Amino acid sequence: MKFELKKTGNWSYFSIPQLEELNITHGFFTKASPSHVLKGDGKNMFLDTFFLKDLIIMHQEHGDRVHTIRNGERPESGDAIILLEKGVAGIIRTADCLPIIICEPDVPIISIIHAGWRGTSKRITQKTVRKMSALGVAVNKLVALLGPSIGSCCYEIREDVYNMFKQEGFTENIFRRTEHALFLDLKKANIEMLRNEGIEEIYDTGLCTYCDEDLFNSYRRGDRDKRQINFVSLKG
Ligand SMILES: [Zn+2]
Repeated sequence: MKFELKKTGNWSYFSIPQLEELNITHGFFTKASPSHVLKGDGKNMFLDTFFLKDLIIMHQEHGDRVHTIRNGERPESGDAIILLEKGVAGIIRTADCLPIIICEPDVPIISIIHAGWRGTSKRITQKTVRKMSALGVAVNKLVALLGPSIGSCCYEIREDVYNMFKQEGFTENIFRRTEHALFLDLKKANIEMLRNEGIEEIYDTGLCTYCDEDLFNSYRRGDRDKRQINFVSLKG
């Protein structure tokens, strides 16, 4: 399977057509559709375009709280959502942090995760997979999608961040060192967790928000208030 850049109405996003056919509506949006448009009329336009009855936008905390939505729950804050309810979009806003979608079209069950460095170091991705597993899902049938995030090409970190990851038991593989600098590979850190939990099917958009100025906002590049939309829902 491969990502394609799609345009639907005013919305421009990366998605995998085969998953759309399996009733997993999803997208990693470009900066052409910034997240602040999901208010008022923009929200209604979004719901209409993707045939949704509701959406969940949480106050993101860079933590490790994972919510399960069975029917009507609407959490106000947290960084991951597992959705069993149909027709409801789980939304994560990012501008360098990594958005991850995990799905099993046959159950069906989906989740979406906000994985910045803090959430990643707190193993939010592992916690989400384990919670999905506790709901009865076969982990080896899960498919994971990695959206655009700042890449190891651009994500310079200091030793304090490095030490936090080492304390949490992450391997040296998730870092890149040059003579004068240290870089974090957010995607590798999350892929490591996904693989350790038993997920084999992982698709990466392969896009760096910092490098690709035409397509994405980047916090590090100076976009302090702008975010991309990332969403997933089960077709109702
Ligand atoms: Zn880059």
